[in-house]
Amino acid sequence: MPSVADPVILDGRALAREIRADLKARSLALREKGVIPRIEAVVASQDPSSLAYVAMKRKWAGWCAIESGEFSVDDSGSQDEVMDKVRELNSNHLVHGVLIQHPLPKHIDEPAVLELLGAAKDVDGITSHSLGLLTAGLPGFRCATPLGITKLLDKYEIDCTGKQAIVIGRSNILGKPMALMLLERNATVTIAHSRTVGLPDLVRQSDIVVAAVGRAEMVKGDWLKPGAIVIDAGYNTVEGKSHDVGDCEFDSCAEAASMITPVPGGVGPMTVASLLANTVEAAERLI
Ligand code: NAP
Repeated sequence: MPSVADPVILDGRALAREIRADLKARSLALREKGVIPRIEAVVASQDPSSLAYVAMKRKWAGWCAIESGEFSVDDSGSQDEVMDKVRELNSNHLVHGVLIQHPLPKHIDEPAVLELLGAAKDVDGITSHSLGLLTAGLPGFRCATPLGITKLLDKYEIDCTGKQAIVIGRSNILGKPMALMLLERNATVTIAHSRTVGLPDLVRQSDIVVAAVGRAEMVKGDWLKPGAIVIDAGYNTVEGKSHDVGDCEFDSCAEAASMITPVPGGVGPMTVASLLANTVEAAERLI
């Protein structure tokens, strides 16, 4: 058993591995029934982070017996071409999930692309329709990163009921849906953002802290309530560091926390696993 000073490390890499094994079995079962799960991505061809993420998705999709493809949009790609591609993917019954990888090139109207996709194949859960379903508590695809975090909460039997939670960040793909998912789990949720005043004090009152900011090591250990559960969704490249760091300063936070996600190896692997889980679920709806 870990001592008080040793937090439980919420191991997203291990859980993602378990989820992928389950997905592979389900994909193979689908294939036997003539359904080949398939996900397609629309991605900016000149965004290195997007390309890296999509390559990761391709690798694990292949491992899980899920087919995948990509439509690259470069700086000369037009809005019409992207919209035509999304229309084609919408009507292609062999495609079960579509990922519109943010950010598309600046000249592309991304909200219009997402609106066109709609909820049926939105396995990333980021269209306004999917977010509306989440807000209303109705079934639908949930955003991959916060969904992955809830899978980690479940794996480690973290009961959110009655807990004070803070989500730092309010993006549509992470902070806002995360807050709603914690609310669904009966936490009392505060959402913080760049205009929040007195953030360290708000964090100090919280049993669960989700950092989704994009600022390297912003949350310090002395901001935490002793025994807090820390979920770090941040991924930040810092010059001179051999690996990416989170939004929480790991060493000082680990001293105060009872449970904490590492970066890398915490939330990151869960995002792709959740995206692929939504894709298999979409394919299973057909049988
Ligand atoms: P984003 O769209 O840039 O949103 C960042 C949020 O942080 C905004 O709501 C912003 O507030 C808030 N913020 C910025 N500075 C702040 C400050 N000093 N104090 C409090 N709040 C502050 O970013 P995102 O897409 O949500 O991503 C957030 C982080 O998660 C990034 O590190 C990203 O790389 C990572 N991420 C990880 C995964 C994964 O799979 N692990 C997936 C997606 C994203 P305002 O709204 O007021 O501007």
